[in-house]
Amino acid sequence: MRIDLHVHSTASDGTLSPTALVEEAYAHGVAALALTDHDTMDGVDEARRAADRLGIEFIAGVELNTDSPAGEVHVLGYYIPTDDTWFQRFLANRRRAREVRAHKIVDRLHGLGYPIEFADVERAAANGAIGRPHIARALVEAGYMSSVREAFERLLHRDGPAYVKRESLTPTEAVQAIVRTGGVPVLAHPGRMSDQSIIPELIEAGLAGLECYYPEHSPEQTEHYIAMARMHDLVVTGGTDYHGPNAPQVRRIGSVFVPAAAPRELAARRRRTA
Ligand code: AMP
Ligand code: MN
Ligand code: MN
Ligand code: MN
Repeated sequence: MRIDLHVHSTASDGTLSPTALVEEAYAHGVAALALTDHDTMDGVDEARRAADRLGIEFIAGVELNTDSPAGEVHVLGYYIPTDDTWFQRFLANRRRAREVRAHKIVDRLHGLGYPIEFADVERAAANGAIGRPHIARALVEAGYMSSVREAFERLLHRDGPAYVKRESLTPTEAVQAIVRTGGVPVLAHPGRMSDQSIIPELIEAGLAGLECYYPEHSPEQTEHYIAMARMHDLVVTGGTDYHGPNAPQVRRIGSVFVPAAAPRELAARRRRTA
């Protein structure tokens, strides 16, 4: 039985609609799926309908991008209630911060000789939560770059000339927000984090799981985080971070091992924290 607890749709920077994404999961034998778009749950209702139709277990999730002094930290939230106005307003604020930042990046691009318009970025985002991939797609569309990957490598990566920091949210604040709304916070791809020393503070704040299984984790990293999870009574989770068939991240939905017990164990944490 395949499980994927980390995927993105057109509600953020994925390239498949929520329905098409769930159909893709079904076609690859995925039996349980969590939608984890960046800073939005706008795809959840549509994805849930498609999952119900196809008999896939569906988990409403989200991925919050946060900043620590040493770099980005991403926090996943699972079993998020969709009717909490406080949390929805929190997400709307994060999306507004994304828009402000995208405007600043577009300004930088003008100065660098790539005069795309904010409207081009909005068109690429198609009402989804705006991110750098949409700016990259607008640059490709305008003929300035040959691929999204090239746009990141030359302009948009963290140390790139067009990079702008977003209005910051700390990892601890993200964990607390997910706990407050009754969801289950999980640290995304810990192997990609440059500063590991923040993990104890996140556990203190209510972190419930670690994304041990991830395409970019080495077997040693996976083992390391499984041991850490065992030591701190955290749920071992995993996912592909699938962004669609044409995304720069080349991977298939459902192609990472995830323990069969993960959805049930996450659900149990929700009861404990709610
Ligand atoms: P943002 O949310 O605006 O900070 O953009 C981050 C998103 O860009 C990530 O969630 C990935 O989907 C994508 N991304 C990050 N780094 C790269 C890269 N080097 N090449 C292509 N896509 C990337
Ligand atoms: Mn993304
Ligand atoms: Mn991430
Ligand atoms: Mn992701």
